[in-house]
Amino acid sequence: MEVGVDERIVFAVGAAATLAGGPEQSLIGRSWREFVDPGDHDLIEALFLCAQSGARLGPVSARLAEPGGGGRGFAIRVCRLPENRGAVSCALTRAAPPFVGGAEGGLHDLQSFEAAGKRLIEAAQATGEQLELAFVELAGLESLVQGLPQATRSAVQTRLAGALRAQSAGGGAAARLGAERYAVIRGADGNPEALGANVMRLIGLVAETEGLTVSARSMALTGEVSPSQLARSMRYALEDFLRDGSAGGPPLSVQDALNRSVRRTLERANALGSAVAERSFTLAYQPVVWLKTGALHHYEALVRFGDDASPFPMIRMAEELDLIEGLDLAVVEKAVSTLAADPKLRLAVNVSGRTITSPAFPTCVETLVGDKPAIRDRLIFEITESAAIEDLSVADRHIQVLRRLGCMVCLDDFGAGAASLAYLQQLSLDVVKIDGRYIRELQHGGRQSTFIRHLVGMCAELGVKTLAEMVESAEVEEAVRQAGVDFGQGYLYGAPSATPASPPSRTAPVAARRRGVVESWG
Ligand code: C2E
Ligand code: MG
Ligand code: MG
Repeated sequence: MEVGVDERIVFAVGAAATLAGGPEQSLIGRSWREFVDPGDHDLIEALFLCAQSGARLGPVSARLAEPGGGGRGFAIRVCRLPENRGAVSCALTRAAPPFVGGAEGGLHDLQSFEAAGKRLIEAAQATGEQLELAFVELAGLESLVQGLPQATRSAVQTRLAGALRAQSAGGGAAARLGAERYAVIRGADGNPEALGANVMRLIGLVAETEGLTVSARSMALTGEVSPSQLARSMRYALEDFLRDGSAGGPPLSVQDALNRSVRRTLERANALGSAVAERSFTLAYQPVVWLKTGALHHYEALVRFGDDASPFPMIRMAEELDLIEGLDLAVVEKAVSTLAADPKLRLAVNVSGRTITSPAFPTCVETLVGDKPAIRDRLIFEITESAAIEDLSVADRHIQVLRRLGCMVCLDDFGAGAASLAYLQQLSLDVVKIDGRYIRELQHGGRQSTFIRHLVGMCAELGVKTLAEMVESAEVEEAVRQAGVDFGQGYLYGAPSATPASPPSRTAPVAARRRGVVESWG
């Protein structure tokens, strides 16, 4: 198929005509948009815009337009022909629909990007395709975007997401990792500058790019290592980039990424060991409220190592190296002394899926709170899903010990891992915390609210309360309240802070507050 500069099809034959659904002649003069699912228009448009004289791009997969949406998938490769008045030559084939991320413009977040990367690495292993991981930093993007009117701002976001995806392997392998930081997996061509230049050019089509600079680097995803080591080195490299940006010089080879990571892991393991031994970590407290009344219910205690940065990389490392139990117990101990000092406080602590199956854990907790009845019913355990629970029956036995002591038990991150339903079925729980990704999605409407309503219904039948985390806006709060969720947590009520700060009394419906509703769990 050839598409002219006015978006009209000037030539079609073979698979192109078949896929577009008509004989060649009937397609001539019509816009390509008629044949592509509207959800993929931005992507295909970006692909055409990125295609410059002579260079080939793709394949990128997208969906065909079909009444009701969700059409069949196809893959497209493009090349702009210099001798052809700017027309783009497109080769189409049947293909599976794209695997895209849930963030704006089909970008992935770190977690789903890693999953997409793993799939691509495994597929490339079979076909012999060479891949690379490219890091793109757009310095000045935040302040540029803040100064723009809403419409231009979303045009910039659309162009940016489109440009990254159009240049990614299969069209679905691009991620937003943080403010101004993006990553792409793509066929290795060793030319990340062109990738960055295209991003700048596409943004430049919708906004003045003064003050914006791009830097792009890449790391070839090849080496004398297994696919799982490749995937892991990709993760380490992403962590490096997330933390230090391109100023830190993200790794250039898999070996480099692995070496750096070994070094860093040893440093971290040492740092963790002394933080636990010297109790030099602190806790940050984030409020959890009753959605019905807006009243405070408890605080979640989140560990902090020195600064206010997320402890997540440290936690993940501790889980991988089996060092997490010591930390979890030290946090429980600190929470217990905080509770002893403030009889009105209720605290939830996080416990890794690793720790909960450890034989020593319930015994240690009993030692810490066994003789303190005034504390036990103010201590809540959140079992996190960052590490899978290996033996559910052991975990459940330990959970029952905690509950017999009078503590509540909550399952964290519900829906984040593959095993959530099995956990819900086999563990005796008081509360289920619905993973933030489903909650934040509510902002955009869509299917998540159906999912949440049904989950709430199921939990109600099981006698389990529900908690929505990452409630950031009043709209989301209303949506989860409508869905029947019991508790809310998120920036709307307060970020984690060094001391337990009371949430603003903004949410309580006046009538409920006047009635002075007093509620308790169970
Ligand atoms: P989590 O238990 O799901 O904790 C919620 C995380 O989301 C916290 O990140 C919190 O700062 C963040 N958050 C809270 N409200 C919002 C919001 O409205 N929007 C957004 N975007 N984020 C919000 P943090 O503190 O970085 O903790 C990350 C994870 O580290 C925790 O996730 C938990 O799995 C783990 N963790 C933290 N402390 C401990 C601990 O003492 N032991 C164990 N095993 N894990 C811990
Ligand atoms: Mg938690
Ligand atoms: Mg969570």
